Amino acid sequence: MPRIEFFNKVDVMHTISRSFQDLQTLRHCGVNDIVSTLYLPIQVKEPGTARDLYDWLMNAEVKRGREAGVNIHPAIGIHPMMVPTDTKVLDGALNYLEQALKTKKAIALGETGLHRGTPEEFISFKRHLELARQYNMPVIIHTPHEQKGELTKVIMKELQKHKVERALIDHVTGENIAIVLQDPRRNIKIGVSIQKSNLSKKEALLLYKNYSYENRYMMNTNAGNGPGDILSVIKAIESFEKAGFQTRLLKKLCYDNALDIFGGILREPFI
Ligand SMILES: [Zn+2]
Repeated sequence: MPRIEFFNKVDVMHTISRSFQDLQTLRHCGVNDIVSTLYLPIQVKEPGTARDLYDWLMNAEVKRGREAGVNIHPAIGIHPMMVPTDTKVLDGALNYLEQALKTKKAIALGETGLHRGTPEEFISFKRHLELARQYNMPVIIHTPHEQKGELTKVIMKELQKHKVERALIDHVTGENIAIVLQDPRRNIKIGVSIQKSNLSKKEALLLYKNYSYENRYMMNTNAGNGPGDILSVIKAIESFEKAGFQTRLLKKLCYDNALDIFGGILREPFI
């Protein structure tokens, strides 16, 4: 068990796939706020499925978090890996998304973005960006494992076109960080997911050493249904400390930068 730093931390992950005990473990490590993005390993086949998932995350999941002692802040959307291939179904799911946003129970849109880069993913992504603009909400954007650079270029172009002001471009690596940084805006954050399928804590450290954008870098576990380590950010904090980085910087990478885009909601008193 690493030495635990007791400053507040925010994680971005998929809580619906994790246990009650995982949530309690995070709380014990000072993660009081979790932005929970919607992902399950299914393709949405009926609009009603999307509606039920939004309801689950915005209601029962928030309650479960409270019982475990953490604030779960829902981010809702149609993950690119869940996007229906039938555009009528997609339309219906997107309409339900707008209805769900009107309840004001979600903190952000997402994950959206591109995974394989199909036309349906692209339609869905653009609609998420329109909604983000319309409802003045931040958006969490997935970048894929394959064709990472190429699809990140498309993502960044759309982001600028839609004039979205606050976004977390997630799962950034050495392959696409320079593309994201071409957009100089402070509130277009660089999401660094420390997990087996993305970056190790060593790689995250190296990436930071190479691109020291302290106001833009946000670490997360992206833990979900895969073999993700719920403590990966805690362990990365330890590596950064060993490498000589100060707590002031680590607070930025694990908390303050999240406040920039997710705003006042995180400042509400702990329930
Ligand atoms: Zn993702």
